[in-house]
Amino acid sequence: MALVSTNPATGQQIATYQEFSAAELEEALARAADAFARWRHTSFDERGAVVREAAAELRRRKSELARLMALEMGKPLAQGEGEVDKCASTAEYFATHAADLLADTDVATEAARSFVAFKPLGVVLGVMPWNFPFWQVFRYTAPALMAGNTTVLKHASNVTGCALAIEEVWRQAGAPAGVFQTLRLGSSRVGEVIDDARIAAVTLTGSTPAGRSVAARAGQALKKTVLELGGSDPYVILDDADIATAVKICVHSRLINSGQSCVAAKRFICTTRRADEVERLFTETMRAKSMGDPLSGVDVGPQAREDLRDELDRQVRDSVSQGARALLGGRRPEGPGAFYPPTVLTGVRKGMPAYDEELFGPVAAIITADDEDEALRIANDSPFGLGAAVFTRDAARGTRIAADVLEAGNCFVNDFVRSDVRLPFGGIKQSGYGRELSAFGIREFVNIKTVWVA
Ligand code: NAP
Repeated sequence: MALVSTNPATGQQIATYQEFSAAELEEALARAADAFARWRHTSFDERGAVVREAAAELRRRKSELARLMALEMGKPLAQGEGEVDKCASTAEYFATHAADLLADTDVATEAARSFVAFKPLGVVLGVMPWNFPFWQVFRYTAPALMAGNTTVLKHASNVTGCALAIEEVWRQAGAPAGVFQTLRLGSSRVGEVIDDARIAAVTLTGSTPAGRSVAARAGQALKKTVLELGGSDPYVILDDADIATAVKICVHSRLINSGQSCVAAKRFICTTRRADEVERLFTETMRAKSMGDPLSGVDVGPQAREDLRDELDRQVRDSVSQGARALLGGRRPEGPGAFYPPTVLTGVRKGMPAYDEELFGPVAAIITADDEDEALRIANDSPFGLGAAVFTRDAARGTRIAADVLEAGNCFVNDFVRSDVRLPFGGIKQSGYGRELSAFGIREFVNIKTVWVA
């Protein structure tokens, strides 16, 4: 079967790539295992030199790579350049800090010496999504390689050009053959890769159904998994919030990557007291955003694929048929391309797709609560638990709510949720498990080894 790249702004096919044959897959896995046998014994300095050079290569090719993302999945150019920068700085962070993050840690016991060591596991399989086609890959690869693992990447089928460009970045950076490889495979062949004895662990970023399927297979094979799955992040605007600033931040978060971010704000919850003002400002701010060709400096590009745009359209229409009102947008445009306009839904209630499901596109669901306690209860009334935010002028109260009340892996006060390499990132509930980034992330794919010397 072929993997097809289609420009979502035009609907035109850009390229097709032949899937790996069984023999090509076998060669790649053998190469990855062989490379691991040597890479695991390299020093942090040697690994760091390669990872730092990958960062330099990313920066050198920033415009070209951002353009590739725009063409394959519709990301507006400036956002693509920002993504490449973030990959580079994350690679540099792990190149600099991995030795400290994975240093032997002595623990006083009655032994002559006892300590914890962090040793690589082997070949890590990465199954990655199209929405941040560089970031998701570098987020797991830089720490995994610095820890001494090697990796094979099965990227989303619609961004094979990006997957091959990433492989080229590692090659140019001097990574030995087999340390990083792209597997050209459709999702139906992921299971056989998980089963392969040379694969030590699996990390998947993607939808909850894909996570469930990969976790089941890896569970059967008793292999470690990290799952970064979907989200429906609630942003709670409390009565005392600076509403204008809060709405500006909410709209920014909702529209990152044309609404296709796992930690985009998706549900906006306020009380009836402030609802009119929130709805008015939301609609004005969303209306001012431009949509169009991602190569031309717009705020919102097309959705990444037509089928995904159509699914979003169905979720909006079903919500409206159940009583939600579209204050803005809510209609699939005519014409070529997978476009969907910035949309504001109000009157959203439990039982509607806009309340219960992840809306992966530029659609804001405003939910009104009778009081603040109910607003916080609604925030947690979700199968997901990736990110959440609360807006209030009372920073101490906001901190308590973020720390103690909101049920999510990443809780922010008066700001939009985003990842930071110095802090762990990940979800709870159906948003997955395990963490990426920081000391927590780099220790996911290591053998946390106890050494006891009598
Ligand atoms: P997706 O359809 O789940 O695909 C993700 C990856 O999994 C792709 O490589 C896909 O391959 C593969 N895949 C799909 N079904 C599979 C299965 N049954 N078995 C094995 N592999 C399978 O997700 P997406 O549409 O690319 O990405 C959007 C989703 O990712 C959203 O839900 C978003 O919230 C989530 N996400 C989460 C995070 C996070 O950090 N938590 C970050 C970004 C995105 P094919 O392309 O070949 O189908």
